[in-house]
Formats: sequence, structure tokens, C-alpha cells
Amino acid sequence: MLKTHNCGELRVEHAGQQVTLAGWVHRWRDQGGLVFWDLRDRWGITQVTIDQQATPEVHALAKDVRSEWVVQITGIVNQRPEGMTNPDLPTGDVEVVATDVQILNQAKTTPFYINKDENVDEALRMRYRYLDLRRPPMQHNIMLRHNVIRFIRNYLADQGFVEIETPILFKTTPEGARDYLVPSRVHPGKFFALPQSPQQLKQLLMVAGYERYFQIARCFRDEDQRGDRQPEFTQLDLEMSFVERDDVLALIEDLMTRLVEEVTDCELVTKPFPRLSYQDAMLRYGSDKPDLRYGMEIVDITPLAAETTFKVFTGNVEAGNPVRAICVPECGTYSRKQLSELEENAKAAGAKGLAWMAVEEGEGQVRSPIAKFFSPEQITDLIARVGANPGDLILFASDAETVVCEVLDTMRRAMAARLELVDPKQIAFCWIIDFPLFTWNEDETRWDPSHHLFTSPMPEDVPLLDTDPGQARGQQYDLACNGYEVAGGSIRIHNRDVQEKIFGLIGLDLEDAKERFGHMLEAFEYGTPPHGGIAPGIDRLVMLLAGQPNIREVIAFPKTQQAADLMAGAPSEPTEAGQLEELHIRVVLPD
Ligand code: ASP
Repeated sequence: MLKTHNCGELRVEHAGQQVTLAGWVHRWRDQGGLVFWDLRDRWGITQVTIDQQATPEVHALAKDVRSEWVVQITGIVNQRPEGMTNPDLPTGDVEVVATDVQILNQAKTTPFYINKDENVDEALRMRYRYLDLRRPPMQHNIMLRHNVIRFIRNYLADQGFVEIETPILFKTTPEGARDYLVPSRVHPGKFFALPQSPQQLKQLLMVAGYERYFQIARCFRDEDQRGDRQPEFTQLDLEMSFVERDDVLALIEDLMTRLVEEVTDCELVTKPFPRLSYQDAMLRYGSDKPDLRYGMEIVDITPLAAETTFKVFTGNVEAGNPVRAICVPECGTYSRKQLSELEENAKAAGAKGLAWMAVEEGEGQVRSPIAKFFSPEQITDLIARVGANPGDLILFASDAETVVCEVLDTMRRAMAARLELVDPKQIAFCWIIDFPLFTWNEDETRWDPSHHLFTSPMPEDVPLLDTDPGQARGQQYDLACNGYEVAGGSIRIHNRDVQEKIFGLIGLDLEDAKERFGHMLEAFEYGTPPHGGIAPGIDRLVMLLAGQPNIREVIAFPKTQQAADLMAGAPSEPTEAGQLEELHIRVVLPD
């Protein structure tokens, strides 16, 4: 090794020892006869001192060294005198007085500072990702990711899980997105599909008798790049045989609890994880991925609103729509301007406007443009129902069910952000269960699976497949955390009749189904155990544990929102002449 110690290691007890360190010059200061370096490697930063008087040749060499040069130094560990220590650095009680310096490599001036946590344009960070990854905050994220994955591997291996790799070149395994296709040179006109998840393969591993499988799996989904998504991302993919829903939930709950408590410095604020039915989650939070770090639960006030003389409310109630509200603490003094900002938020979420009521001191006292449509008793009743106190602000939504949910979910999140109620160090998991098995696809006039087409209905809801499929619940579960979905899974269908019925309902005729999933249907005839699984998204999970705002911060080499790699310049045209011909492909560019 070119070093005897790393740059995060030296302490007072090393004083007097000769050591050799190697790394990057994080910062340099030239104070005439003394040059100081903060020398950085993956483990930390150590101060190095080069004294002109004591070591003139070394000083002559060192004084021209600049940031990010790669150097090796040998010297003696010195306890820093009182008043000269740096409490911000774990190595801050010592310095190394260099007796020898080797310049291993010079560096051009970097396009952004490595040693400052500045707001750098993200495109520039992506273009020079290898430099971005040098920055200590990024190193922290990448190390956390490593520790998370290592913990998961060890935990699952201890629980009898087997890690098995599955192919990347495969046939479509649908999760509701577009496939990435890979042309086959050997089979002209045919394509592999990159797996959207190893769904079919993990189920086949259950048919194959492995009983407990997992994999840190890369998944590929060619989705429109809205939101915080990546064309390729990583899941902890997992499947178990001879289990029921609660077995899967218990395993993951224990894994996540221990992960947070043993690997991170975050605080788990929901223990055990609350379980909400999909319906309940939508009613109380307007979302199937609620953020439980704060309150402001949605309250249904439809019956009360029906009795008022406010036309918007009564009209909606007559049309069968709900009226719901949230109570926002301490915003009752909001100005017109602030309230119109909130209205813009609500409109962006689909609302036509935003009714509000500010609760004031004194029984039933409110400030609100719609107060005149309420009787004093109705106002008192409303205040009691939403649990408002003087100084609070009540926000209303009344529209179609889906719009009301969307608007109040948006307002909850927006108000929590404004009031700084979200602590990134808090982790609030919850389970969402009892999802509807299908959602109605208006455009195609057919049912779509809400999870995927292998999800089993609740046993008691199987008869509904024939009579009222929209009412059937699936044995599906999601794990939500801090307002994000971090895992989804289900107990699978292992009965061919039920599977065929599902194909029928989602408009897949048996011939099509055989063409696409014949291998699975066939396999299921050779003794399939009851099985189920789940797939936590590693990127999102690490993002939350690292308190980061997007998944690109925890992926070493992410792609942009436009699904491009700015560093390598991918995707790109084929590099070799004749490559496309060999693949039997002709490109027709759009006009
Ligand atoms: N394959 C599913 C997904 O990626 C997870 C599962 O059902 O286990 O969402």
C-alpha cells in the first residue's frame, strides 16, 4: 500500500509515530513559511503541515501544489497545541508534519469546488460525475447505500433467503410501463425485453422450490420521465413460498426497523408500522402514500356541508361528490396574498378554487368569504369536527372524489412544508393494504390490474370477479414512508382458473396470454406452492434514509430527467459501421 493509515484514522494516541498518507489535496493554505493541506481520502481529512525551515526541499515542492492534486506524504503525527484543534474533524486533535512529499498526479482546476457544498448546476455535476462523487456529501450517500445493501443481504441470508441472479435479456415482464427492447442479431426481427422487474422469474423460482429468494435487482422501465424516476433503478426483489400476507409484512417490518435503527441515525417514529386500508388512506390523507410525520388529517364534512347555503358545496353534494377539509395550525392570520398562493397550489392539483375559514378568538368566530353561508351552529359544529383552535386555518375541497383527494393531499404536503413540520431525520413507515384489485381504464373500456396481473384477489372476494370486479380487493400491500411508496408486493395467484379469469377481465385473450406468459402458465401446472413477495425500491429508500430530495443523489451514475447520461453521452448513435444492418434494423427518424 502507498499509505500506512487513512485520512480519517489518526488520533492523539498516534502522536510521535511516523505515518504515510495518500489522497487528494482538499484545501491548501500557504502562510509563507508554512504550507497547510487538508488531505482527503475516502475515510476523512487530516491536516498536513509543511515547514519551510525544517524541510526546505519539501516546502519548495509543496508550495505549488493545488486542490485535487494527488499526493503521498510521510511525516510525524503531532498533537496540535491547545487552541489550534479543529473540533469539526474527527482527526482535528492532530496534524502530520511532513518530512517527505511525493506528487503522484496533478489535477486541472475542477469545474466546481469539491471542498464546498455549493449549489452547482445539476447538469454540470452529471457531466463530471466522477468529480461530483468525490464531494464528501456524495461519498456519504454512496457509503450509506452500500451499508444499507450490505445489511439487507446479511439479514436475509440469516433468514434463510438465497440470492439468485435472473437474466437481463428476457421476455417482457410487465409492470405497467413500456419495455426497453434489445434487438437480437441471431434472430432477425426479434427482440429481448429488459425486465421491468424479475416478477415472473421470482415466481418461477418458487415453482422451482427455492422457497425464499432475494436479489438486489436492476429493473428497466421506459416511462415518460415525469417526477423523480430513472429508466433503470434498483429493487430488493424478494419472494417467499408457503406464506400469507402477514408473513411478508412481518419480515419486511422487522428488516426495515432494524435497518433504520442499526444502520442510520434516523428516528423511527411509527412503531409498529400502522396498517391503513387503501380506502382509509385515501379518506384520511387523500393519498395511498401518506406522510405520517405530521397530522392535518382530512375530515369528511359532507353531511354538514349539505345543510349550508353555499352553492358550490350543496351542488357537489347533490352530484354525489364529497366535501372535505383539513385544519392547518397557526395559519389563521394568513394574508390575502398568502391565501391566494395557497389557492394556486390547490388549482395546480385540479381544484377550481380554494374555500377557507380562519378561526378567531371567541366562540364560533371566523374570518371567511363563505362564513355567511353557514349558520352559527354550523360553524361551531364545523370547528369541532375538524378540531380547530383559534388561530387555525380550515381549507376545504369539494369536487369529484379523486380531485378532492388530490387537492387535500397536495395542501397537506404544501402546508407541512410551509410550516416546516417535516424532519428529514424522522422515518414514518406505514402499510397500505386492501387495494382494489382493478382500476377501470376509461380509454380502453376494460379493467387494469392495480398492481400486476399475477396478484391474487382476497380469497373472500373471488366470487366478485364474476359479479362486480371493481369491488374485488387484491392481496396487495404497499409500504409507504414519508410520503413515498417504498415497496409494493402481493400474494400471487397460484390457481390457473383464477389466473385465466384475470386475463379475461383485463382484456387479454387466452391465445395472447399463452403467447406472452405460456411458460408461466405451463410451469404453474407442475405443483406451484402458494407464494408471495414484495420489492422495496432501494434508491427511494436510501434517498429517504439520507434525507435527500431526489433519487439521483443516491445513485452513482444516474440519468437525467430526459433519460440521458451526460457524462458518457448515452444514448448515442451506433459506433461501428454496419452495426444496424447486422441487427436488421433501419432507423426512421421523426420529421
Ligand atoms: N414486481 C413488483 C414491483 O416491481 C413487486 C412485487 O410484486 O413483488 O412492483
